[in-house]
This record gives sequence, structure tokens and C-alpha cells, in this order.
Amino acid sequence: MHLFHGLINSYGVFTACSHVPQTTVRGVADSSLTPLLEDIADISVDSEVSLAQLTTLHVGAQPRLTVRCTTPQAVVDTVTRLDAAGVPLLILGGGSNLLVADDEPLDLVVVRIECAEVSLDPHSGVLRAQAGAVWDDVVDTAVAAGLGGIECLSGIPGSAGATPVQNVGAYGVEIADVLLRVELLDRATGQVSWVPASDLDLAYRYSNLKFTSRGVVLAIELQLTPEGLSAPLRFGELARRLEAQGPGERRPVAAVRQAVLELRQAKGMVLIPGDHDTWSAGSFFTNPVVDPQHASDIQDKVRRLRGDEDAERMPQFPAGENQLKLSAAWLIDRAGFAKGYPGEGAPARLSTRHTLALTNRGSAHTADIVALARTIRDGVKTEFGVVLEPEPIWLGVHI
Ligand SMILES: Cc1cc2nc3c(=O)[nH]c(=O)nc-3n(C[C@H](O)[C@H](O)[C@H](O)COP(=O)(O)OP(=O)(O)OC[C@H]3O[C@@H](n4cnc5c(N)ncnc54)[C@H](O)[C@@H]3O)c2cc1C
Repeated sequence: MHLFHGLINSYGVFTACSHVPQTTVRGVADSSLTPLLEDIADISVDSEVSLAQLTTLHVGAQPRLTVRCTTPQAVVDTVTRLDAAGVPLLILGGGSNLLVADDEPLDLVVVRIECAEVSLDPHSGVLRAQAGAVWDDVVDTAVAAGLGGIECLSGIPGSAGATPVQNVGAYGVEIADVLLRVELLDRATGQVSWVPASDLDLAYRYSNLKFTSRGVVLAIELQLTPEGLSAPLRFGELARRLEAQGPGERRPVAAVRQAVLELRQAKGMVLIPGDHDTWSAGSFFTNPVVDPQHASDIQDKVRRLRGDEDAERMPQFPAGENQLKLSAAWLIDRAGFAKGYPGEGAPARLSTRHTLALTNRGSAHTADIVALARTIRDGVKTEFGVVLEPEPIWLGVHI
């Protein structure tokens, strides 16, 4: 801890945290919850905000309360009190990986994590971020300090604390590649401790924090590299963009961040407020991971439906022992769902720039997005016999 206190002073604290303990209540608070929360410092309580205002799909009903926590201690106090009282909770960061029901008020309290300090040591390459730090600000900070390892994760929306939850990844890099440990509030015991990354079962778009109430991430610690170079380029599209000579080449971190942001922007994968292609939860389905025989069966189906040329182009990448990862976006497209499906005027459509993003065109309800998800999933299953699994967390709805 001494190391980081020193470094915070030397390199500055990038923070949205309040240093003055305060509690604010807006709206007509749920009176049964008020006594539980009233003496907790560094929170503000809002009973009027809806999940549509807090999520990037812009759908979702109003919870009983939203508690905004600007320090880790406020998160601990709020979550442990509400857990002890048996009040259902939703831990919320940037709301960019959530699909929430909107047909009736939600019987839960949203705990929004807003503590956002970031500190780093440019010599050792160790970076620490509180859970509420905006993830892309963390990447920007690392890149500005010449630290490599997370530049390929530029532009992913949401908070630092959520990055281990589904082991975020993009352009050949996952947070698992650099995550040392997380500071975790264990919701069963109320204890806070640093938990090594190896204890999180990190895998493709998965950890044992996803779909569970195991704990709340209060901070993350990353081991980055201090030479000013990126992680080895592993993703063909990015390597080509940077005119890399061979696989595994490393490039200056700032150049890689810039290239990633440009590639993502072209696909509508960077949040822009008025751009409905970005009113999404990012990739709506995970890429199917199948054994080679299954992949070959799917390729035969593509051959019958689309011909030899298309079948030979079917993307498939090694994904661990005897496993291949297919492209959900490619399968969706080949199943007949083009970008923008089902077309102008529909409240929920595929992004006009990426077939893997389901988007709200401004007036969609949760049911519109769920109906589109079912149509896509069923269409891909009918054509290729592959069941696509949703990537975001679904709350109060089922596919
Ligand atoms: C345009 C767009 C592009 C995207 N691109 C990518 C991409 O390239 N790669 C990728 O992997 N994802 C991508 N995503 C998905 C999403 O941005 C990530 O999953 C992100 O990490 C979610 O962060 P969040 O803070 O918004 O989480 P939220 O949506 O707020 O929460 C998601 C889940 O994590 C839990 N959670 C949040 N914070 C914590 C915490 N501190 N402790 C414990 N649990 C917590 C929540 O309870 C919920 O279950 C994209 C999303 C969008 C909208």
C-alpha cells in the first residue's frame, strides 16, 4: 500500500471521488430502506432514475432506489447492509452489458459504483484502478504513461471494476492477460481482501463473478509492460491496419490505441450519445466454441447453403485443446440477417455497422430487443444447428 500512496502523490489521482463524506436523497425515497442507508457516508440516493437512463441499451424500469457510492467504503457499507436485510441488489458500473426488463418497476436496489481513483508506477508497470473508474480513461492513462498491455482494449465502454466480470476482450487481448488481482467484497462473509486473478476462473467472456453474487470488485490491479510497446499483435485486422510485418509484432502503444479506436468507431463499437448504432450492449452473442467435428458439420451446412467459396472462408480459430471458436457475427450474416435487419422503422434492429450488435433505435422496449434476439438465435439454429448464447446479463427477462 505504501508504494501506491507514494505514487498517487507523484503521478496524480484521476478521480471522480468525493473526499467530503456526504449523503444526499433525491425523489421520494423508499421509506422502508431509508433507515438502512441514512448514516452511510459518501452515497447519494435517487428514487426517480430508471435503468433506461443508466444502461447503454437505454431500456429498463425503475428500481426501488439507486444508491451512488463515491468511495469503496460506501460500496462496502451499502452492499453489506442491504445484503444483511435481504434486499435484492444490482451492482452497476456503466450499464453497458445489461438487458433489463421494463414492463414493471424492479424490486431491487441499484448500487452504482462511482469511486474512480487510478494510480500507476511507470517503472514496474503496475496500475491500480478503483472499480468505478471509466475503463477507457484507465486505458488512456496507461497509454499516456507508455504502459503496454491494455491498448487493444481501448474504447470498451463501462467501468474498470466490471472488466474481470466477463473477462473483457478485444483484438486478441483479454483482461486476464494482465490482471494480477482484484480487491473483492465477499458478499457471503462481508470481508474485503485482495483475490488473485487465478481465483476468478477467467475464461472466454466468463469469470465466477458473472451470473453470481459472489462479490463486488472494489479495485483491480494490472501488470503492464513499461517499454512503451503494445502487447504482441495477434488480431489480423489490427495487424494489417498497422502494417505489421509478422504475427506477434509489438508497436508503440499510442499508435495501437488509435488504430483500435478507429476500427471500433467504424463498427459502432464506441459509445456516441446520438448514434443509435451504439445504443447496444456491444456483442449480443458470444462466439460459439465447438469441437472440430462440430465445426466441420457447420462448414458442410454452409457449403450446401452458400457454396464452396463461402464455406472455405468460414472463420474458425483455435480456442484451447480440441476446440475452435467460430464467428457469431459471420454466422448471423450467413443465416440471412444483414446489417440493419429488419430494416428502417423497426424500434430494435441489428446495428447498420455490425451484425453482432442489437440496437435500440430510440423507442425500443425491452420486449422489442428480446424478440429480435430470439429471431436471430432461432434463425442461426435453423440454418446451422448452432445455438448462440447471449453475452450480456439479462435481468427480469429470458431469451
Ligand atoms: C458499444 C459497446 C461495445 C462493447 N465492446 C466490448 C468488447 O469489445 N469486449 C467486451 O468484452 N465487452 C464489450 N462490451 C460490453 C461491456 O462494455 C463490457 O462487458 C463492460 O466491461 C461492462 O462494464 P459496465 O461497467 O458497463 O458493467 P455493467 O453493465 O454495469 O454490469 C455488467 C455486469 O457486471 C456486474 N458488475 C459491474 N460492476 C461490478 C463490480 N464492480 N463488481 C462486481 N460485479 C460488477 C453487474 O452486476 C452486471 O452483472 C461492449 C459494450 C458496448 C455497449
